[in-house]
Amino acid sequence: MKNISLLGSTGSIGTQTLEVVRAYPEELCVKALTCGSRIGLLKEQIKEFKPELVVVFDQDKALELEKEIKSPEFSSYEEKIPEVMSGMEGLIAAATLSSADIVLTAVVGMIGIRPTIAAIEAGKDIALANKETLVTAGHIIMPLAKAHGVKILPVDSEHSAIFQSLNGEDRKALDKILLTASGGPFRGRRREELSNITPEDALKHPNWSMGAKITIDSSTLVNKGLEVMEAQWLFGVPAEQIQVVVQPQSIIHSMVQFDDGGIIAQLGTPDMKLPIMYALFYPERKFLEGERLDFWKLSEITFEKPDTDNFPGLRLAYEAAGEGGSMPTVYNAVNEEAVSLFLRRKIGYLDIADTIACCMSSHKTVNNPDLDQILMIENELRGEVARRFE
Ligand code: NDP
Ligand code: MG
Repeated sequence: MKNISLLGSTGSIGTQTLEVVRAYPEELCVKALTCGSRIGLLKEQIKEFKPELVVVFDQDKALELEKEIKSPEFSSYEEKIPEVMSGMEGLIAAATLSSADIVLTAVVGMIGIRPTIAAIEAGKDIALANKETLVTAGHIIMPLAKAHGVKILPVDSEHSAIFQSLNGEDRKALDKILLTASGGPFRGRRREELSNITPEDALKHPNWSMGAKITIDSSTLVNKGLEVMEAQWLFGVPAEQIQVVVQPQSIIHSMVQFDDGGIIAQLGTPDMKLPIMYALFYPERKFLEGERLDFWKLSEITFEKPDTDNFPGLRLAYEAAGEGGSMPTVYNAVNEEAVSLFLRRKIGYLDIADTIACCMSSHKTVNNPDLDQILMIENELRGEVARRFE
């Protein structure tokens, strides 16, 4: 039995993880569930999965939940009522819960840094969906994981594909990573045609159904930029050896090329449950119900170069990766704030990448920033971006 602490259980990755747990009740057990504020869904999850600990980041909502789960509605609940916690203290308690073997990090944004570090220090393996954490603190997290002998297992579909393609191979013979991208819903459009994009337009992704922030990031190619930096840390490959290949059907989830020119890829219908299962059961493969790839129906897989002129989000990520130090934090923190402002209709679509570019050019890089410096830079920049558009 593998015991899981699931950070971000009410989100897109969180709920799909719980579908996997539901399919394998003899092998997987959830010990902690956490969310930001959506306690309605969390309550249903508590009834079904009976965790020991639940965390609601929002303190008022946590108190509300605590009251509700002690009410008669829960009187038929046969298990012990779970402990309820809130805030960062709660997230860290969930990440370090003694009964958990693995922490699946599916919170959105760099809020995941401290719980991830705490989980590693407590010796937990990490199934990592929360890419923003690795982008901003990869230089702290990867050596720490090595020192504590814990595994960082990728959940992001491209990184899972790379991980699967590298299985049993000599990493020294790896020449480059071919990171595939769908190109997003606005592929083929020019900058002038993007200025009036609304949150509703950008929230429609052609192939994947995901949380709001990553859906916007996919449309701006910032998601691919974050993934380049995520791959850098996960596989120890510099950004210049990571090539983004647009493959609009999202059938090839990524590829690796070796020194002899051979390329290994992982393919399949787009379904996040596969990388989630691969991370939870690694190195075992399990049955996953669902559609199988039908090559006769598919008939073609096409390739394009990413358009970094009209979608500068990807170009800026390579610049941030090349600069290193605190620059990836600037790229990520500004994007988090800008996307949140865009979703609240406070800024336009093109302002997202423009603001990242502007903040990156005025930032003085801090080399090898420690955790406090990373969080301070995040805080400063988010404030600066919010003030800019007041
Ligand atoms: P969602 O927005 O769907 O879910 C985010 C989860 O984090 C929710 O449970 C949310 O709770 C919780 N949360 C939000 N804010 C806070 C906070 N301040 N403190 C604690 N918890 C919080 O996101 P996704 O599931 O789409 O993405 C999660 C992560 O996985 C991201 O880093 C994303 O980049 C990555 N990822 C996602 C993929 C996908 O297919 N969705 C694919 C690959 C990677 P609440 O519901 O209460 O707001
Ligand atoms: Mg991805």
